[in-house]
Amino acid sequence: MDKIIPKTEEFLLDLFFPKFCLGCRKEGTYLCDDCRALLDIAEFDYCLCNTKPLRLPPGSKSGKCQRCRDKKLSGLYSALPYKEKHLTKKLIYQFKYQPYLKDLAKTLANILIEHFIISGKNTDEIWDNGILVPIPLEKTKLKIRGYNQSEELAKELSKVLRIPVISDNLIKIKNTKPQMELSKEERERNLEGAFTVKKPFDFAQGKKIFLVDDVYTTGSTMEQCAKILKENGVKQVCGVCIAREG
Ligand SMILES: [Zn+2]
Ligand SMILES: [Zn+2]
Repeated sequence: MDKIIPKTEEFLLDLFFPKFCLGCRKEGTYLCDDCRALLDIAEFDYCLCNTKPLRLPPGSKSGKCQRCRDKKLSGLYSALPYKEKHLTKKLIYQFKYQPYLKDLAKTLANILIEHFIISGKNTDEIWDNGILVPIPLEKTKLKIRGYNQSEELAKELSKVLRIPVISDNLIKIKNTKPQMELSKEERERNLEGAFTVKKPFDFAQGKKIFLVDDVYTTGSTMEQCAKILKENGVKQVCGVCIAREG
C-alpha cells in the first residue's frame, strides 16, 4: 500500500499540473533529453577560486591551487557553469523562486550525478564515511519557500550516493545580506557568527562532510561553513553545487 500511494499521487499531480520542459516547453518533464544534451556538464574539476579557477588534473586529490591552499574547503564539485547558459539559471531559479518547483531537485541531482560519473568521482574512496550537509537557510526564507532547496538536493543525492544527510546540525543563527552586493570585507563581517553547529560530536564521527548548495558564487558562505565545521572537529569539508560562477 505504501508504495501505491505515492505513485497515485504522482500520477494525479501530473494530470493536474503537467510538467513542461523549462528549455523548450515540451510536455512531460522539467528538462527534456534534447535540452539536457545542450547543458555543458563538467568533465573536470576546478579549484575553488572564483576567478579563472585552475583545472585540476584528473584523479588529483588536493583539489586546490596554490593560492587556495589555506582555505578550509578541500575542494569543490560543480556540474555546470552558471553564467553562460541561460537554461541552467532558469532551472535553478525555478527551483528556488515562484512557482517553486521543489521537484526539480531530482532533475538537478541527476545532473550532478552525471558529473560525478564522467569526472571519475563514482568511487567509494570519495564517498565512504561521507555526510551530506545542506547549507542552512534563514528561518524567514524557509518560511516563504517552504523548503530549503539545498536540503532537497542533498536528499536526492543521498539516494544515489547512499550516504546520510544531516540537515539540522549546521544551522544559521543570524540573518545575512545577499553576498553579491558586498565587498570582500563586508562579506566576511556579514557572515561572522552566522552559522553554528548544535552537536559537534555528530559531525566529528562522520569524518568527511560534503556541503551542498545550489550555486557557488563568491564561495564565502561555503568557506565560512567549512571553517565552523572544522572548528567543531570535522576533518575534511568539500563543497558540492549544481553550478558555479566564473
Ligand atoms: Zn526541452
Ligand atoms: Zn584556487
